[in-house]
Amino acid sequence: MLLAPACALCAVPLREPTRGPICTDCWHAVPRLTPPLCDRCGDPLPSGRVGAVARSGCPRCRRARSAITRSRAVGPYTGPLRQLVHLLKYERRHTLAVRLGDLMRQYGTAVLADADYVVPVPLHARRRRARGFNQAAELAAQLDLPVVHALRRTVATRPQTALPAAHRRRNVAGVFAPARAIGWRPAASRIRGARVVVVDDVVTTGATVESCARVLRQLGAREVRVLTLARVARPRSP
Ligand SMILES: [Zn+2]
Ligand SMILES: [Zn+2]
Repeated sequence: MLLAPACALCAVPLREPTRGPICTDCWHAVPRLTPPLCDRCGDPLPSGRVGAVARSGCPRCRRARSAITRSRAVGPYTGPLRQLVHLLKYERRHTLAVRLGDLMRQYGTAVLADADYVVPVPLHARRRRARGFNQAAELAAQLDLPVVHALRRTVATRPQTALPAAHRRRNVAGVFAPARAIGWRPAASRIRGARVVVVDDVVTTGATVESCARVLRQLGAREVRVLTLARVARPRSP
């Protein structure tokens, strides 16, 4: 007798295993970020702050300069979304990337609309070889825009999630550089004047995507936006 494959999160037998390794109930349980959101970082704002107030940003964004104009994520990095990120990262399930990409398109319309390219946050070549793939690139491939590998990681940093917040910015400062070439063209010639969306699985403090955005702006990007699957909830700033 063949056993039906089980949901990778809750272990109930799957009714439609061809639709991916997660059952319908677990998909519905994925936490989502809903408006009002800070337009710049994508963090939830206290309800009632809509329109002009959302565009002017959360207190943290109003205080800090950033190379990023707009960010969105599907949901907070907790519960089933956190488990899904782990599944994607360590087991590379293609059907999972397809469905997670659907969610990113749905929750990322504000950043994907009129964008020219998506740029995955790169892994260091050594880590990419060890893992066999880059989960950010797997997600970027689902977003119906040309994927441009415009960046490379020059240093194999420790994973951001393993570090205390104060160390994270230092951990990624200067670790990204332009790709040596994109196809046969220098990276800058492809990026100059373009609206690009940096794609990653999780935003932790924002230091990694900020670092990527700076390099893209140096390459002449007209605008840099960010789309991720999840973002780590930050303590509300005063
Ligand atoms: Zn399930
Ligand atoms: Zn913000």
